[in-house]
Amino acid sequence: MSNIKKYNGIPDMVILGSTGSVGEQAVDVALSHGLRVHALSADKSVRKVEAQARRLAPEFCIMNDVAAARELKIALADTNVKVLQGVDGIARMLSELKTDNPNGIVVENSILGKAGLEPTLKVLEAGYPLALANKESLVVGGEIVMPLAKKQGITILPVDSEHCAIFQCLRSGNHDEIKKILLTASGGPFFGYDKSALKGVTLQDTLKHPTWNMGAKITVDSATLMNKGFEVIEAVHLFDVTPSQIEVVVHRESIIHSMVEYIDNSVIAQMSVPDMRHCVQYALTHPCRTTAENTTPALDLFAKGKLTFVRPDTEVFTLLPLAYSCIDRGGALPCALNAANEIAVAAFLKEKIPFWKISDVVEKAVGYMDGRGVRDVHTLDGILEVDADTRAYTQQLL
Ligand code: MG
Repeated sequence: MSNIKKYNGIPDMVILGSTGSVGEQAVDVALSHGLRVHALSADKSVRKVEAQARRLAPEFCIMNDVAAARELKIALADTNVKVLQGVDGIARMLSELKTDNPNGIVVENSILGKAGLEPTLKVLEAGYPLALANKESLVVGGEIVMPLAKKQGITILPVDSEHCAIFQCLRSGNHDEIKKILLTASGGPFFGYDKSALKGVTLQDTLKHPTWNMGAKITVDSATLMNKGFEVIEAVHLFDVTPSQIEVVVHRESIIHSMVEYIDNSVIAQMSVPDMRHCVQYALTHPCRTTAENTTPALDLFAKGKLTFVRPDTEVFTLLPLAYSCIDRGGALPCALNAANEIAVAAFLKEKIPFWKISDVVEKAVGYMDGRGVRDVHTLDGILEVDADTRAYTQQLL
């Protein structure tokens, strides 16, 4: 039996990126389980971090932005909270952490975008278990992050609903028994649209996700299916499978969060209500479980009635096949894909470009970077350079 470990209480937490959508839900889980939270971090949302710090009383708060760190230091002057700044501040906090909790400390990284990569590397270097909600750490730097985790003997705990589901399904079999991973997708708000219908969609239409309540950037990525493409790349790294072993299944109800098909044709699925707090909690209790009365509601299958499955439309949502081709070709191509997409989505959110143009811009930028041979780049410095060059090139396309 693999499930021999008995539940023995929950670890303490550090929440990096505590003011984003997943970060706030991690704060919820920490509050509902009465967890000790040692540190919070954010980019520049001083007021939100201050409010969280007053509720959770961490030892450290780290702001990425220099002016925000200065401001937070003044705001928290009446407390014992140490305010630090930047990736160096995160590294210093990690070196000073102490706990007497026998379950230790789990560090959740829910930072938004590529900015989460270096903090991920710092957490792994410091030897802490990493609950990873920042998928860009793997999309951009998977080739560096996974070997480091392996060297440090750290299992990355996925806090992405699909990967958390796969992680749970993989407890049913051995790695060499996996036939394929069935990665589910809600299909987003424009499921069933053709190319001409996509030309008419607005920012407001895009931000209405049918089943998940998420931040603006990832909601746009769900509408283009870029998010699903990133999740394919994430799964390749996390679960050591080939891109051809991952099949995307559109499942509109978002009840099955993904499945694993084994060589005997048995398919194991994980189901629950769509709520990220489930994933945060599982990352903290893995390989055990504890009750969730205060976090996520129970699944009512009779209220749902039926579950449906269809293939994604890769002719309309072209960023999904582009992601497959980037991870297949490898090197820093997934990094270029992410960088181009971050710039294009930011422009769309500012209403500088229409929705349909996101994929257009991303495809052009990736094609250009591919021509520059970025699939042969495999170092952190090289990746950061590809990231910067892709961003600069993409800006010119807007
Ligand atoms: Mg997801």
